[in-house]
Amino acid sequence: MANSVNDVLNIAIIGGGIVGCCVAWELSKTQAGIFVFEKNPGITKGENQSSRNSGVNHAGINYDRKTRPLKARLCVEGNRLWYDFCERYQVPCQKTGKLIVAQDAVQNRGLDRYLRRAAENGVADVRKISGEEVQDLEPNVKAHAALFVPTSGIFEPTALLHQVYALASNQGVEFMTATEIVALAAVAGGLRLTLCYRDGRQDSIVARRVINAAGVHAVGVARLIDPDFPIQAALTRGDSLKFYRKRRADIYLRGMNVYPAPIVVDTPTGRHHSVGVHLTPTFDRVGAEFVIGDTVTVGPKLIPVKSLEDYQTPVPPVESFLEDLSFFPGLTSADLESHQCGVHARLNGYPDFYIQADRTYGNVIHLLGIDSPGFTAAPAIARYVARLIDKQMIQQGA
Ligand SMILES: Cc1cc2nc3c(=O)[nH]c(=O)nc-3n(C[C@H](O)[C@H](O)[C@H](O)COP(=O)(O)OP(=O)(O)OC[C@H]3O[C@@H](n4cnc5c(N)ncnc54)[C@H](O)[C@@H]3O)c2cc1C
Repeated sequence: MANSVNDVLNIAIIGGGIVGCCVAWELSKTQAGIFVFEKNPGITKGENQSSRNSGVNHAGINYDRKTRPLKARLCVEGNRLWYDFCERYQVPCQKTGKLIVAQDAVQNRGLDRYLRRAAENGVADVRKISGEEVQDLEPNVKAHAALFVPTSGIFEPTALLHQVYALASNQGVEFMTATEIVALAAVAGGLRLTLCYRDGRQDSIVARRVINAAGVHAVGVARLIDPDFPIQAALTRGDSLKFYRKRRADIYLRGMNVYPAPIVVDTPTGRHHSVGVHLTPTFDRVGAEFVIGDTVTVGPKLIPVKSLEDYQTPVPPVESFLEDLSFFPGLTSADLESHQCGVHARLNGYPDFYIQADRTYGNVIHLLGIDSPGFTAAPAIARYVARLIDKQMIQQGA
């Protein structure tokens, strides 16, 4: 029987990005009555992190288990889950491998930390290679040494999101697009959600359980139910440029992900980890097919912004990207074109994913700070949320 928005819903998910869609699909394997509310006009249409990212299936070596335990665990799990998923459903995806390059002996010693972390996090087959071996793999990359990470790869984010959305829909999940949740209040039997449609009309429904997967707006949604919610959203954006490898036959890239040694960036809203400006082969659409084509994404470069919707602050000058690309000499400002910007769902002073029940209303689960590697981790985040709900149901004797 089709669900109706007039019933008391079992589960309301706020946000139809990759995380909301994966959570909906996962929960729909055991539960009915799931609704996803998305303020964009369509699930893969509109602005969100899931359509403005680099499309890297991260291996999971950047996150240490002490300060970022959920990122460390869920990234590695998600990386494997996506490869299996893409093979099963024929979604564009490729294990390209990644080079993290050191430019001198000091950076080379720094790579050892990531080598140890790879072992701790269970990332298979990561090894140190020499500058000569780097050139065998990517002849135009200049490095003193590098980490070779074979399980890194790329996927086509919107195709992936669309496939998960289709699977969830087929399993009975209802998607209400162009519908923003503007208020949340505890009532007998659950939470009342106030819906606002694009024409300004409002409506309300009650749900037994709410999952807050609102991406960069998730802190704002948490404040709808807990005005004193203690964590602030950080205001950072990732800006990318692109170049076409066939236009510069002399400095082509064979198709690996190439990253500098990770850095820490100071911004007005605090210190942030960054993987630095890197080169990512990108899927291009050719007719109905996605192929690893001609486009190489350069970035993102992390910059501070003024608001969660700030696309006005200018992209840094092309020259500043080139300064970060000393490992790929030969690229000039004339080769680089503007590409995309995406605001990150980062939190101030909280570097890990925040996946917890609301401190007052246990039937609300907040998913905050789902910045990179959030796309990679999304299917594992969904399983984590399903286990959290199972535990809650056991405790409640349901
Ligand atoms: C520049 C950049 C590059 C990145 N590169 C990578 C990468 O290479 N690999 C990787 O793994 N990750 C990457 N990430 C991170 C990744 O994109 C995100 O972690 C992931 O997409 C988060 O998905 P989400 O569903 O949580 O959020 P989103 O995709 O932002 O979705 C949240 C949704 O909630 C909706 N929403 C918000 N408020 C409301 C409301 N009140 N009512 C209804 N709907 C609402 C929004 O419209 C939005 O569609 C990158 C991010 C950025 C910004």
